[in-house]
Amino acid sequence: MSNIKENLDIINQKILDAEKKSGRKQGSVKLMAVSKFHPLEAVIEAINAGQTLFGENRVQEAYSKFKPVFEEYSQIELHMIGQLQTNKVKHAVEISSCIESVDRIDLIKEIEKQCSKLNKSIKILFEYHTGEESKSGFTNDDELYKALDMFKNKNFPHVIPYGFMTMAPFTNDKELVRKSFITLRLLAEKIKNQYPMFEMPELSMGMSGDFEIAIEEGSTLVRVGTAIFGERVY
Ligand SMILES: *Cc1c(COP(=O)(O)O)cnc(C)c1O
Repeated sequence: MSNIKENLDIINQKILDAEKKSGRKQGSVKLMAVSKFHPLEAVIEAINAGQTLFGENRVQEAYSKFKPVFEEYSQIELHMIGQLQTNKVKHAVEISSCIESVDRIDLIKEIEKQCSKLNKSIKILFEYHTGEESKSGFTNDDELYKALDMFKNKNFPHVIPYGFMTMAPFTNDKELVRKSFITLRLLAEKIKNQYPMFEMPELSMGMSGDFEIAIEEGSTLVRVGTAIFGERVY
């Protein structure tokens, strides 16, 4: 027996509580269901329970799992959240509405190239490295600012810079986790002041173990896998 619907209800309630606790507007935080390593049947169950936004790490897996989903259901959205190799971008932009794990300029160039072929626009988030243990994300501020300048100079007409994403360190130290979220929020505020031509409203932070802290620190999108679908079997 699966508890996907029950788990979704619990998490949606916890999100509401966290919004209330931090004085944020109800509905200001979106829930993404991270379905990596879980089968199509689990995704369908989540859809039947009302879930519309999903996240996947690996393009190959996402492509075969979600192609049939898109044929059957409208209004389902998929974001890519894992490290993305340049040669996987073609399929990634076909199936997703947002690539959250953008960590280098080369990747943005390839996203632009593939989207222009499809005549499609796509959102991206800049993934920023805020936790020592995670290896992904922009680690070099110069590179990030160079990317933003390229957007400003209209180098990527099919790519919409929509905000920021981070992964907190895997630790039980809640203050360390909070620090990582604060780092991303402050970076986003600073960059939005410097680049007012971009809206960049999205702050994607928080996973199963830390999404309530992330909401307190301004997250607009939490990425929850285990707490919805159970442990992943690798
Ligand atoms: C797997 C993954 C998640 C979900 O993690 P859980 O701890 O299972 O909620 C969130 N974000 C990213 C980038 C992931 O790779």
